[in-house]
Amino acid sequence: MIEQYRITLLPGDGIGSEIMAVAVDVLELVGKQHQLEFTFESALIGGAAIDETGEPLPAETLEACRRSDAVLLAAIGGYKWDNLPRSQRPETGLLGLRSGLGLFANLRPATILPQLIDASSLKKEVVEGVDIMVVRELTGGVYFGKPKGIFETETGEQRGVNTMAYTASEIDRIAKVGFETAQKRKGRLCSVDKANVLDVSQLWRDRIEAMATNYPNVELSHLYVDNAAMQLVRAPKQFDTIVTGNLFGDILSDAAAMLTGSIGMLPSASLGEAGSPGVFEPVHGSAPDIAGQDKANPLAQVLSVAMMLRYGLNQPQAANKIATAVTKVLDLGYRTGDIMSSGMTDVGCKGMGEALIKVLEE
Ligand code: NAD
Repeated sequence: MIEQYRITLLPGDGIGSEIMAVAVDVLELVGKQHQLEFTFESALIGGAAIDETGEPLPAETLEACRRSDAVLLAAIGGYKWDNLPRSQRPETGLLGLRSGLGLFANLRPATILPQLIDASSLKKEVVEGVDIMVVRELTGGVYFGKPKGIFETETGEQRGVNTMAYTASEIDRIAKVGFETAQKRKGRLCSVDKANVLDVSQLWRDRIEAMATNYPNVELSHLYVDNAAMQLVRAPKQFDTIVTGNLFGDILSDAAAMLTGSIGMLPSASLGEAGSPGVFEPVHGSAPDIAGQDKANPLAQVLSVAMMLRYGLNQPQAANKIATAVTKVLDLGYRTGDIMSSGMTDVGCKGMGEALIKVLEE
């Protein structure tokens, strides 16, 4: 039976349309090979939307995303829009998309590919085989808790305040994503908190422990965030899936990602409630410095398609096919400028797309 999906494409700005073109070709081909049929709708976001409509996230774009099964986003932003007021900036469109779709979970993998191991700043034996997924809570915690602001004390001194707060239900829903992600991976979940100091973290730990009874096949551990940061650079191979709050996840996901050393290779997923569309996008930005020159690495975008298939559409076989094809093109020595090394062939963005198609057709 053919499964049908509606995908909203948001190419955005800079290199967005170049890497999106490669990703769509790959998705269509893998779809045909796995009886998946995709209907695509393209919409404007970021600077492209500002130029056309005056706003970074037009209502039609959000509507198109809401009625789709998944959203594939490239990147937004560029020099041209950098001096606009904050409410009209491309980044505001991205935040609007996240809140408009209720995306509370951010999944960021850090996988070391053997072909790119020299790009890591850590020793080969430390990073070889690293395959980590950081599941970060995205809409709560200290970035959103109230009260927040800069106030004046009774003595007239300024005092800056943010509040780290989580409700039990906010913790439960991200815990569920954490356990389910671990189930789809190697079955190990490490919850990161600061329960030795923070009450909010104690509640976090209690709820995670309670949730664990529903997932007897997942091996749960806990780490304090300072130790987790240390362990990530000391012995990253010990981690499979990490689940953590907004602030700790912000920091740890960047640290984990940089173990890989190559920004053009990193995908991400942002998920909402079950049944609502997730957003799948590369971690990198719109790279305006190389836009329109066929220099962009499309692999982070292509790997975002694989995440969409795995975590958004529950099509793991098609996802695996893409991940394998990416490994294969690297094995064949094809590179883009950002991951180039001696003896390899720089094929550019389009060339990388063609190489992927060829490998997938074999
Ligand atoms: P960037 O990620 O766009 O670029 C950083 C460096 O990495 C640049 O030298 C760029 O050429 C290179 N690079 C990035 N992606 C690449 C790829 N796929 N292939 C080859 N090289 C790649 O970050 P930046 O320069 O700080 O920001 C540029 C614009 O992107 C800004 O307007 C920023 O606000 C925006 N941005 C958007 C997102 C997003 O859409 N999620 C994320 C980060 C930055």
